[in-house]
Amino acid sequence: MQPPKKMATYQEELKTALADSFVRETLDKIAVAYRTSRQRIFSVINEQEHVTGNTVAKDYAMDHYDELYEMFAREAAKRGAVVHYAATGAEAKAIIAKIAQDNNVKLVSKTKSLTSKEILLNPALEAVGCEVVEGDLGEWILQLRDEYPGHLVLPAMHLSRYQVADTFSDVTRFKQEADIPKLCMVARRVLREKFFNADMGITGANFIVAETGTVGVCTNEGNARLVTTLPRVQVSIVGIDKIVRTTREALNAQYVLARNGTGQPITSYVTWMSGAMEQLQNPDKKKIYHIVVLDNGRTALSKDPLCREALRCIRCGACANICPIYRMVGGQAMGHVYVGAIGLILTYFFHGKDKARNIMQNCINCGACKAVCAGGVNLPAVITELRARINEEEGSPVESSLLAKTLSNRKLFHSMLRVGKWAQKPMTMGSPYIRHLPEVFLKGQDFRALPAIANTPFRDMWAKMKDTTNPKALIKVGLFGGCAQDFIYPEQLVAAVKVFTAKGCAVDFPMAQSCCGLPVQMMGERKAAETVAKNNLLAFDAATYDYIVTLCASCASHLKHSYARTLRNYPELTSKVEQFTQKVIDFSSFASKVLKISEADLKKSNESVCYHSPCHLCRGMEVTEEPRALLGMAANYKAAEEEDVCCGFGGSYSLKFPEIAGQVLEKKMTNLEATGASTLLTDCPGCVLQLRGGQEKRGKKLKVEHMAELIARQLK
Ligand code: SF4
Ligand code: SF4
Repeated sequence: MQPPKKMATYQEELKTALADSFVRETLDKIAVAYRTSRQRIFSVINEQEHVTGNTVAKDYAMDHYDELYEMFAREAAKRGAVVHYAATGAEAKAIIAKIAQDNNVKLVSKTKSLTSKEILLNPALEAVGCEVVEGDLGEWILQLRDEYPGHLVLPAMHLSRYQVADTFSDVTRFKQEADIPKLCMVARRVLREKFFNADMGITGANFIVAETGTVGVCTNEGNARLVTTLPRVQVSIVGIDKIVRTTREALNAQYVLARNGTGQPITSYVTWMSGAMEQLQNPDKKKIYHIVVLDNGRTALSKDPLCREALRCIRCGACANICPIYRMVGGQAMGHVYVGAIGLILTYFFHGKDKARNIMQNCINCGACKAVCAGGVNLPAVITELRARINEEEGSPVESSLLAKTLSNRKLFHSMLRVGKWAQKPMTMGSPYIRHLPEVFLKGQDFRALPAIANTPFRDMWAKMKDTTNPKALIKVGLFGGCAQDFIYPEQLVAAVKVFTAKGCAVDFPMAQSCCGLPVQMMGERKAAETVAKNNLLAFDAATYDYIVTLCASCASHLKHSYARTLRNYPELTSKVEQFTQKVIDFSSFASKVLKISEADLKKSNESVCYHSPCHLCRGMEVTEEPRALLGMAANYKAAEEEDVCCGFGGSYSLKFPEIAGQVLEKKMTNLEATGASTLLTDCPGCVLQLRGGQEKRGKKLKVEHMAELIARQLK
């Protein structure tokens, strides 16, 4: 297992991972192919119905682990298996080592068990004199190289055939060609002999069914069948989180598992084992079959109201396949045994916060994992919660505490921005960008040009503008500015006010509003996130508005969907939070669905435009059609590849991990530039900052604007 690391060491590892062109290309191909195959396979079934099925089954199981375990143990025992409950990894290892010793086991073949890796089972068996051979091809390669998996389903996908050929050459002491079919034959020859001679076989399990005492294993190689059938002794090791009550529930999980993980309708092999099967070597002609059900913190996690949903995971690997950060750096940099989004979380619970602290920061909060999760797990919310816990348990980093203190005090924050406007002058030289940032502040930020603070914040313009809105209008809008638009891009808010007043709205801009709180929430600063949320609830008297409109997708998603969770410990605010969140709406939805902006309102321009769909709009707010409909009416819209993939901004993420943010941006800009459009539109000032800054660095091919600016310009 990897030791805990300092942030600086972790940063260096990330740079090494980014420089590995084989891993980058492999992960990129997988990410692109996965999106297509997943979309195809789910286009003909009701995905949500199956995800909900998993959610309901797993949540029920969590509330009844004791009862379901008893049922499972009873039914499996009836069918000849011996079932053990191991409260800890140490207990599980002791049980399995004793089974090996009691049965004079010398050779163990083993496959498909991340759970055994979680508890470091192999060294425990080696300590009692067993030779242990991993039987899955990828796992065997990793065993030979003494490495941990890079993916839940494809453990060795980070290795090239050349690396595998070198490893096999060492093992066989014979130069092996880097030819995949030939390498498979080498593995087959060596492993077959081990399978035939193994005394004990060990596998993990994808499901265990309480009502029948059945263990289910899904694989794409036949090796699990050799491991489960040939040896005279067999052990299944499985976390209690894999238990479901009925066969129907297990079949539902199996139905989604391969579809979500690899885009296949089913894994090549699905093995169901109900009790001890026939085994001619043993005197009673039955296998010696033990099932070890592992707790190792799972029951405690099932009682944790904010994180328990992580136990719904069926280990499909989709949250890694879809993650823009995983796509850049791979699994070795995103978890210990379990990797990808769920790996960040399980590392905290199974391997300790010391190992989780840094990797937990390596999430940009794009929500892509949540959108595809087969267990309906809100992974980013759990990751954010764990960041807060780590800060509370071990203390916050200095920059995070400073940001928390500043954002908690609106007047201080806004004063600092006003001072910054003057302080930046020698660095902007009158341009809209900070051109000469001293090296000490640059820290890898040169992948994009950073914007200057505006000469006049929107709040200072508002005194004059408010007279232009009609206070007697039928639709009353409370405008939530957000820091970036108020102080960096006020022209976006000016454009929105023009659109709203043209369509007869009364607009108000409450001056006591502040940052939405997402940056501090992302940094795990729970108290500051609560303070800022409470300030905004007070600033907006929600009862006086029909809508609270924001042009920032991140603010919209945070205000609408996170305030209830953020303020859950303040029951006296519940009805105020409900009233506020119900009224929050993003610009494009408001323009399209409420103002009903149509072709009659707009002059269609010949300008060719492309679109970046902000993560917090398309997934956070589930808004996809509205901006594209507006674009189609206002200009000549050209769709880009991967429009809904993150641009790499992520607020403080791009400051903390600039090398990764820069690479994510590079990919995004390549896709957008390929459309040949002259203007890029988006719905979030953070994305404007990232994309405009990136374009500036690349030589300004695309003009980058907010949707409100296009709509305001094209109004008749
Ligand atoms: S968390 Fe969800 S997406 Fe990730 S492996 Fe588990 S079930 Fe699959
Ligand atoms: S929210 Fe995005 S960056 Fe974070 S783990 Fe999920 S997919 Fe990866």
